[in-house]
Amino acid sequence: MTDLHRNFIGGEWVADGAATPNHNPSDLADVIGEYLQGDAALTRQAIDAAAAAFPAWSHSPPQRRFDILDAAGSMILAHKAKLGELLAREEGKILPEAIGEVGRAGQIFKFFAGEALRQSGDLLASVRSGVTVEVTREPIGVVGLITPWNFPIAIPAWKMAPAIAYGNCVVLKPAELVPGCAWALAEILAEAGLPAGVFNLVMGRGSVVGAEVIASPKIAAISFTGSVTTGRRITEQAVVSGKKVQVEMGGKNPMVVLDDADLKVAVEAAVNSAFFSTGQRCTAASRLIVTEGIHDRFVGAVSERLAGLKVDHALKAGTDIGPVVSEAQLHQDLEYVAVGKAEGAKLVAGGERLTRDTEGYYMAPALFTETTPEMRVNREEIFGPVASVIRTKDYDTALAIANDIEFGLSAGIATTSLKYAQHFKRNAQAGMVMVNLPTAGVDYHVPFGGRKGSSYGPREQGRYAAEFYTTVKTSYQAAG
Ligand code: NAD
Repeated sequence: MTDLHRNFIGGEWVADGAATPNHNPSDLADVIGEYLQGDAALTRQAIDAAAAAFPAWSHSPPQRRFDILDAAGSMILAHKAKLGELLAREEGKILPEAIGEVGRAGQIFKFFAGEALRQSGDLLASVRSGVTVEVTREPIGVVGLITPWNFPIAIPAWKMAPAIAYGNCVVLKPAELVPGCAWALAEILAEAGLPAGVFNLVMGRGSVVGAEVIASPKIAAISFTGSVTTGRRITEQAVVSGKKVQVEMGGKNPMVVLDDADLKVAVEAAVNSAFFSTGQRCTAASRLIVTEGIHDRFVGAVSERLAGLKVDHALKAGTDIGPVVSEAQLHQDLEYVAVGKAEGAKLVAGGERLTRDTEGYYMAPALFTETTPEMRVNREEIFGPVASVIRTKDYDTALAIANDIEFGLSAGIATTSLKYAQHFKRNAQAGMVMVNLPTAGVDYHVPFGGRKGSSYGPREQGRYAAEFYTTVKTSYQAAG
C-alpha cells in the first residue's frame, strides 16, 4: 500500500481525482506513491481560491512574508537528505545532485524572504511645480506556474518564492513525472503558516490542468519552463488573452574548446556540461566545438573519462550518472543516436541501453565526433546523455558555429586567453556565459534565462524576478 497524495487547494488537501502511481526510473518496481490527478473543475477551484486570497495577501506586511518564506527555506534545508532522496527516486538524478538541488531550493526561499523586505520604489520631483511623483511596485494577482520534470524542486521554488514574496497568489501545475517534490513543497508551505489560498497545487496533465490555467481569465500571469513546442503555444495564448508571460524553453548549448585551453579544465567542464544529471539540463552543452590543435587530445581524454563513469541506480553510492527519466525520453535519446550514425557522425563512446540489477532506463553516455554543424544532432535539443564534437579551425569559426543556432540559453568557452574569454563573454549569443566552467550550474541570487528561441519575457531569479512578479504604478500628488 502506497501513500495517497492529494491536491492542495484553499488550504485543504482535496480528495477528488484519480490516483496515478509515481515510478522510480532507476527501479520500475519502486512506486514512490500515488498522486491524485486534478481536472479542469479542480483547477478552476484552485484559481478561485487563489483569487479569494489575493486581496489580503497582496496587502500583507513584508515581515509576515519574510517569516513564512524564511521558515519554509529552513524546513527545506533541514529535510535536505529526505527530500533529496525523494527527488533522486522520482527524477533519477544521483543523490548528491538531488541533495544539492534541494539545498538550492531552500536558499531560494531564504533569498526571496529577504527580497520581501527590500522592495523599493522611486520618489521623484514632478516636472510640474508643487507635484511629487512616486513609482512603486505592486503584486500582479494570481499567477499560474507550470514546471518541467528535470528540476522537480528548484524550478517550482524559483517561481513560487518570488511570486509569494511580492504578494501574489499561486496555482502550481508540476510536471506529470515528478509530482512528489511539488507536493512536499506544498506540505512545507502549509506548515510554515502560509494563509489558505495563497499557494495551491494542482497535479495532473498539461493538456487538462495546464490548459485550464492558461485559459482562465482570472490568471494574471503565467510563468512556464519546459519544451519549445509547449512554451511557444502557451506564449501565443497568453499574449492573445492579455496575460503577462515568462517562458524558459530549450537549449542547444555550445562549449568552445580552444587550442590554448587547460586540457584537464576543458575535459572536466565538457563532461560535466554534457553528461551530468544524465544530460537532462536545459543548460547542458551538447555541441563541443573544438579547435584543431587540441581536438585529438580532447576527444581521447573525454572518451577515457566517459569510460570511467558509472551509470547505475541514482541512490547507489558511487553512481556518476543515473537513469534517463522515462521510457519516452530514453526512446528519444536512442533515436538520436541512430540519427547521428545515419548522418555520418562517428560514435566513439556509449549510445546503447544498459541493464542493471534493477530494471530502469539506463543509457551509456554517447559521444559523437566528425560531426558538422548542419547535422540534426547538432541542431535539435536531444535532452539526454548525448553530445557531439565539431572540429573547427580557429576561435572566429568556433564563435560563428556557437552562435549559428536558434537557441541562446548558455554558452561556454575553455581557454587561457584573456582576449578570447573577454570577446566570447561579449559576443556569445546566450543569456548566460561560462568561462572555464561547465555550461550548467548557476548561482541562485542572479538572473537566469536565455535569448533567441530559448526564452521569452523577463528574467527569472535574483532581484530581476521583480520585473515579472510585480507591476509598476506611477502616482502623482499635489502638494498641500
Ligand atoms: P514539457 O513542455 O513537455 O512540459 C512542461 C510542463 O508543461 C509540464 O508541467 C507539462 O505538463 C505542461 N504542459 C504540457 N502541455 C501543456 C499544455 N498544452 N498547456 C499547459 N501546460 C502544458 O517539458 P518537459 O518535458 O517537462 O521538460 C523538458 C524541457 O524543459 C526541455 O526542452 C528543457 O530544455 C526545458 N527546460 C528549460 C529550462 C530553462 O530554464 N530554459 C529549464 C529546465 C527545462
